[in-house]
Amino acid sequence: MTRRILLVEDNEQNRYLATYFLEKKGFSVTHAADGISALKLAAENRFDLVLLDIQLPGMDGHEIARRLRADPNNADIPIVAATSYAMVGDRERSFEAGCTGYLEKPINPETFIAEIESYLPHDEKETQ
Ligand code: MN
Repeated sequence: MTRRILLVEDNEQNRYLATYFLEKKGFSVTHAADGISALKLAAENRFDLVLLDIQLPGMDGHEIARRLRADPNNADIPIVAATSYAMVGDRERSFEAGCTGYLEKPINPETFIAEIESYLPHDEKETQ
């Protein structure tokens, strides 16, 4: 079963890199570059995980996480915040906003997929 990731990221290079590694591992990746698009996609589709940039134009990642949690269809979806190392406090605010976990950007190719898989429900890890 193909696992579906909603990737919310406004930076083209970051989006390219994350998508490259995820697709190589067999994930299906859907992109959103801002909060409004992300919430619309999340309301209309079933994803296995949301990988969420925090620094976005308009609505930031924390607000997106709060709104996803308020949606019964996405109340339990794993949300992984992608935070820049320099952004002190982003991580704590991410958890307060309902995120399941976080990873640091730039992503580390050595550990990225394992980090993502660690947040997926256990019975979905077996493909590939
Ligand atoms: Mn960004």
